[in-house]
Amino acid sequence: MPGVGRLLILGGTGEARRLAAELAGLSGLAVVSSLAGRVRAPALPQGEVRLGGFGGALGLARWLRAEHVTAVVDATHPFAARMTANAAVASEATGVPLLVLRRPGWTAGPGDVWRRVGPLDTPDEAEAALAGCGDRVFLATGRGHLAPFASLDRWFLLRSVDPPQPPLPRRRHVVLDRGPFTVDGERALLAEHRIDVVVTRDSGGTMAAAKLAAARDAGIPVLLQRRPPLPPGVEEAATVAGAIAWVERLLS
Ligand code: NAP
Repeated sequence: MPGVGRLLILGGTGEARRLAAELAGLSGLAVVSSLAGRVRAPALPQGEVRLGGFGGALGLARWLRAEHVTAVVDATHPFAARMTANAAVASEATGVPLLVLRRPGWTAGPGDVWRRVGPLDTPDEAEAALAGCGDRVFLATGRGHLAPFASLDRWFLLRSVDPPQPPLPRRRHVVLDRGPFTVDGERALLAEHRIDVVVTRDSGGTMAAAKLAAARDAGIPVLLQRRPPLPPGVEEAATVAGAIAWVERLLS
């Protein structure tokens, strides 16, 4: 196949879905999107989709060769660090070009009371980050990142698409819901549960930003977990348009 040929999009984000939709009509290009397969009813991208892990960096390299993939866009979530690291290693091993599509992180505006923290991988790090904050915590870090908080003696509001799995904090309330969320809805949630502090990750984008606006309105502090660094030397785009331009450059 001429040009780029077969493009793999590592997905699981709104940007990945937009990229798949926008590239669907490009001639000379076959797109396959990959999802980890963790969410029970995932929002599916347009076009061909595969589900499940590849079996580490070597498994991904094997898959790229077997499927004759000629380029990869890693459009996974900014905190999906393992997948991004694997993509970088597999790209290096196979010579298949890789672009990492990462939306910019959030920047504080007037009225925001943010403290950047992280990593929050251990109970000690979680406790240290929360020191001096009130008892009632809206822990909005995603259901895969709750374990470091499980042993802490605080009250936690947890929210996720699918039910979170143990270990979970003893004092907790779980809300099952899927974004995007509205500022009004988030404000009501913070008030209903008398939240003292919000803990979230610097995901960026609009899907998860409403809680930050609601926290600002309510004067509630936010602990914002820093992003993991990208593997050294990887090519990066901040927008879907930038990723399309990269693909078009390869095609031409
Ligand atoms: P991760 O920790 O970086 O990856 C763990 C493993 O999951 C990878 O080694 C890989 O398994 C598999 N995997 C991850 N993304 C994959 C993909 N797009 N296609 C196929 N396999 C994938 O990732 P994570 O943080 O658990 O995120 C998993 C998925 O959820 C990603 O697609 C991500 O975009 C999406 N997501 C994550 C977050 C978040 O907060 N982390 C938020 C929203 C959406 P193998 O090693 O077996 O290949």
